[in-house]
Amino acid sequence: MKADTDVDVLIVGAGPTGLVAAIEALRHGLSVRVVDQNERRRPHSKALVLHSRSLEVLDDLGCVAAVLEAGREFRALNIIDRGGALGRIAFRELAWGDAPYPMWLTIPQSETERCLEERLEALGGRVERQLTLRTLREVEGGVDVELLRADGRLEVCRAAWLVGCDGAKSDVRRNVGVELEGDTSGEVFMLADVTMESPLVDAEGYNVLAREGVLLIVPMKTPGQVRLIAHLPGVRPDQAPAIDLPMLQRLVDTRTGLPTKLSSLGWTSVFSPKHFLAKSLRAGRVFLAGDAAHIHSPVGGQGLNTGIQDAYNLMWKLALVQRGLAPGALLDTYEAERHPVGERMIRGVRRATRGLTLRAGAAQWARNRLASLLLRFARVRNLMGAALGMLQLRYAPGLAASTSPLAGSPRPGERATQQAASPGLTHRLRGAHHTLLLFDGPREALAGTEVELVSGLARTLAAPVEVIHVRKDTVPGEAHLADPDGAIHRAFGADRPLAVWIRPDKVVAFRGDPRATGPLRAWLSNFLSPQEKHRE
Ligand SMILES: Cc1cc2nc3c(=O)[nH]c(=O)nc-3n(C[C@H](O)[C@H](O)[C@H](O)COP(=O)(O)OP(=O)(O)OC[C@H]3O[C@@H](n4cnc5c(N)ncnc54)[C@H](O)[C@@H]3O)c2cc1C
Repeated sequence: MKADTDVDVLIVGAGPTGLVAAIEALRHGLSVRVVDQNERRRPHSKALVLHSRSLEVLDDLGCVAAVLEAGREFRALNIIDRGGALGRIAFRELAWGDAPYPMWLTIPQSETERCLEERLEALGGRVERQLTLRTLREVEGGVDVELLRADGRLEVCRAAWLVGCDGAKSDVRRNVGVELEGDTSGEVFMLADVTMESPLVDAEGYNVLAREGVLLIVPMKTPGQVRLIAHLPGVRPDQAPAIDLPMLQRLVDTRTGLPTKLSSLGWTSVFSPKHFLAKSLRAGRVFLAGDAAHIHSPVGGQGLNTGIQDAYNLMWKLALVQRGLAPGALLDTYEAERHPVGERMIRGVRRATRGLTLRAGAAQWARNRLASLLLRFARVRNLMGAALGMLQLRYAPGLAASTSPLAGSPRPGERATQQAASPGLTHRLRGAHHTLLLFDGPREALAGTEVELVSGLARTLAAPVEVIHVRKDTVPGEAHLADPDGAIHRAFGADRPLAVWIRPDKVVAFRGDPRATGPLRAWLSNFLSPQEKHRE
């Protein structure tokens, strides 16, 4: 922490994005305050699905076990209409590749937030509630904020950095004058958590493409409990229909034609999908993440998951820069990497929402037939699964190596695909450090001097780096990771000597020939600082 600030980073908002940001700040050695205007954690189920990539992230954060315990596997998504089945995506049958959590998890947002908050507390942090950000002003070396307490008093705090995780109506965004670009769909949806007796398969989801409007049935943690999300064609955004059990029962009867019985109505909401993206994710020392940066309809369950990944991308960079271990340019890569992700996601969600809200009979018929046709192809199902599971991460150009990488995957900018390859490696990748993997080729071994040269390069850096020499054979006395069946070599496409640099967010940053240190040296000098004694 710099002497003239009260804290390294102030996080505004303790929703899922803010909680992940706070955990990451602590894991990466920063002092942090996380404030929220609410008196207590919100009880609503809101975002129900955690995707595969988010589960990987939560594994690294140290709370995946708690989340898996609190949730339930969402086994399949069925597309149906009154005539019967149109298609089915059985999630376990998709080609998940190396993903260590090849699934969708259904878990109420309140439970995800509970698990994250407990993890934050285990790391020594806590959410300061009933503190509302009122104003912020960037000053030399920091940001001055005014926080309003519940008793009406104003508190002033100076943070070196501020991360706005304060949701769709973000006060942080408004204070720094970042504009939103996008539109409102004008359509109206309702959602309701209910208990439903029906002939439908428990733990599976249903997308009912009915003439009267689409109805999504999402399984929840407790068997028999479901989330209903229904398009209400013809209802205007300023008309809020009353939601009660008789209304819901009529809606489900009409749209599914199945014998069902609804009871125990829980949380309900009416919303009009909006699709907006902040023009910029950064204004000086202030960053935007989660719903503060992108707002969109819940179709596809992307919102909460994207927020988790924003925070995971940002915080290690912020920590290295604040601790003087990386040049400030590293922070520019947050926007370069995450803004396009937000753009792509909003484009996809907007398109999906349009498809689901078609009203003309002919258009609905064509949509349903097309869905039925396309979902017969495993390739289509796999593509959908990987996209929704957020496994197709491809950051570019940002921090991905600018030199031409050796062929093979994972490429720079993609997820490191090591997790399934070796439990020994998984264990060593967990944590806040960078990792440099050095592979021998299948037929040639890197000479000790070659390994030493590249390892020496890593040791000149101020940031923590673990160097792991992955060998096919076991050499007594040598510190290396044995890969006798070649699984790790295959997972990284190491069919010749290879250096793979993995960032703390488990994304490949560099891939190249370890015997030619020039490109690696050049890339490192752009993004990581040397130790003091190596500085010129
Ligand atoms: C009805 C509904 C259904 C949804 N369903 C899904 C779904 O199925 N799948 C999915 O992925 N997403 C869904 N979402 C979206 C998902 O809930 C959000 O994407 C997610 O909550 C974003 O998390 P966040 O932490 O960025 O923001 P939020 O969860 O909005 O958290 C922001 C926090 O900031 C605090 N705050 C705001 N202003 C201030 C201030 N000035 N000072 C201090 N604190 C402040 C708030 O109290 C809040 O706790 C749904 C949303 C809604 C409304």
